[in-house]
Amino acid sequence: MEYEDFYRRSIDEPELFWLEQAQRIHWKTPPRVILDQSTPPFRRWFVGGTTNLCYNAVDRHLAERAEQLALVAFSTETGVTREVSYRELYGEVNTFAAVLVSLGVGKGDRVVIYLPNIAEAVFAMLACARIGAIHSVVFGGFAAHNLALRIDDAKPVLLIATDAGMRGGKVLPYKPLVDAALSESSYPPRHVLMVDRGLDASMARSEGRDLDYAELRARHAGIEVPVTWLESNEPSYLLYTSGTTGKPKGIQRDVGGYAVAMAMSTRMIFDIAPGQVMFSTSDVGWAVGHSYNVYGPLIGGATSLLYEGLPTRPDPGIWWQLCQRYGVHTMFSSPTAMRVLKKQDTSWLSASDLSSLKWLFLAGEPLDEPTAHWLTDGLGVPVIDNYWQTETGWPAITLMPGLDLKPLKFGSPGLPSPGYRMKIIDEHSGIEQPSHQKGVLVFEPPLPPGCLTTVWRDDARYVSSYFSHFNELLYSSLDWAIRDDDGYITILGRTDDVINVAGHRLGTREIEESIATHNAVAEAAVVGVYDALKGQVPVVFATLKQDAAEDHRVVAQAMQQCVIDRLGAIAKPAQVYIVNALPKTRSGKLLRRSLQALIQQADPGDLSTLDDPGALDEVRRALERGPDQ
Ligand code: ATP
Ligand code: MG
Repeated sequence: MEYEDFYRRSIDEPELFWLEQAQRIHWKTPPRVILDQSTPPFRRWFVGGTTNLCYNAVDRHLAERAEQLALVAFSTETGVTREVSYRELYGEVNTFAAVLVSLGVGKGDRVVIYLPNIAEAVFAMLACARIGAIHSVVFGGFAAHNLALRIDDAKPVLLIATDAGMRGGKVLPYKPLVDAALSESSYPPRHVLMVDRGLDASMARSEGRDLDYAELRARHAGIEVPVTWLESNEPSYLLYTSGTTGKPKGIQRDVGGYAVAMAMSTRMIFDIAPGQVMFSTSDVGWAVGHSYNVYGPLIGGATSLLYEGLPTRPDPGIWWQLCQRYGVHTMFSSPTAMRVLKKQDTSWLSASDLSSLKWLFLAGEPLDEPTAHWLTDGLGVPVIDNYWQTETGWPAITLMPGLDLKPLKFGSPGLPSPGYRMKIIDEHSGIEQPSHQKGVLVFEPPLPPGCLTTVWRDDARYVSSYFSHFNELLYSSLDWAIRDDDGYITILGRTDDVINVAGHRLGTREIEESIATHNAVAEAAVVGVYDALKGQVPVVFATLKQDAAEDHRVVAQAMQQCVIDRLGAIAKPAQVYIVNALPKTRSGKLLRRSLQALIQQADPGDLSTLDDPGALDEVRRALERGPDQ
């Protein structure tokens, strides 16, 4: 079927469309009502149907693919590779579930999982899903305070953690962070289940509270735990947003709608059929990790490749070597990670045999054209930008090679995904913009299956955060977008990332794109800074490629010229600072608000999601030195 018909049907006949898609998963009892929208902006999909995420991801495949690999957990940090078949996955998940049950975890209880990209993270998630417990995975790189905030919001009965993670060959103890988080927290769980990796010999244990997973695993080996069938709309898991724009929100997901969205998107968007290998470089702690390292590929009967380590260690070819070794069909990563690789020698892109690799999907941040071209040329594989949010759980704007690949257009993630009723509207009047006119990207309710159902225990925040920006009841993405005559949508940045220069509204993304066309530039961040005359002026912070030996003054001036050439003199950056690192969230997103605060000598705000505090010092030093142009 062609994309146009598929999409049209999902909008014109949503109930028929999603009833059809629902056949992709196993239902214990079929749904009575496909869509209930009696209380907008809330909606319920597949009402009355009962199913289970773990059953669909594991049990269902035993008949046909028990010996096939379900999961490969590959670590270049510890040197440990675990290859887990569906049969083994079934065993591990059941044992984990038995341990959870023995600790009193039951349906509806929250379990916080604070683990790096190791196989146990996947086992733990699926074990929770099996017994109807609600997992809340917290990215392992978050520090104690972030963990404590999430614990207090979810009020878990159990925390699952590890002794340590590793990054770039260095052991990063987790346990001291766990202990600090629990003493800061107002709702510390009774037990901490420790997956001891043997990385931190000095690890302290709290008698009575801390339990050893290996010990409990041995005691519960071989036990099978029956699946807890859940009504489609019961909560499956919580996941907090990255916190790029402020306090993270606890995104709540359902069971049936999510399972259907995972089955459909893995097949039709990511083109993954049963038996094929999907490699997502995401951390399990992010939305991509939940959907395309765990639930999507496993519900789809595929093999998921999970990676712990840096993209440049032992060398910048490691990800492509893994593609070759495991015959990866679809790879999924982020523009940020690709820009790290782009600083390195291009020859790494062609050093491995990539004949199995069909698609490279990238999401999370705008994909700049130079990076997209660099990858397409170097890999000989189509690069597919796709746009989504933690809230949506799966791509909202993308191309769908599993269905019918429409032409790629650099700079645009493509077309609306099935079920998304998208409009681009004027921020003030709420009126739909004609093509080529920038506006706010909104979704008309009902949101499709898979998207958030609410904010955890805070329906009011769900409504006020997402549906209260316009007179009409519309989900605001809080991103700027523009649509071309073919319906392709381009994201122009966040609604709070707009610079107003002498009455001209400029998106930071447009300016960053222009700067990235300079071939010495690795990455650029643009912020608006107060200017008495013009209101605001753009200021640039940029990193250069590793081999760029050019004079900073010359490059900085050339960057200004790139902007003038592409956007006009009005957009000319007032200052250009060349730095060694840019401040990013742990999920790899540029923290423009902290840059802006530093330059205006204001409080940089909540920096708890910051990846590398050194990047801020870098910026401070650059500001003291003065601009480079
Ligand atoms: P918070 O909502 O807490 O501030 P966040 O928005 O960074 O955090 P995520 O849900 O991880 O949390 O990120 C979603 C955002 O990432 C989108 O709203 C958009 O701004 C950006 N984004 C994701 N994919 C793309 C893409 N392909 N092109 C452009 N921007 C993208
Ligand atoms: Mg957001």
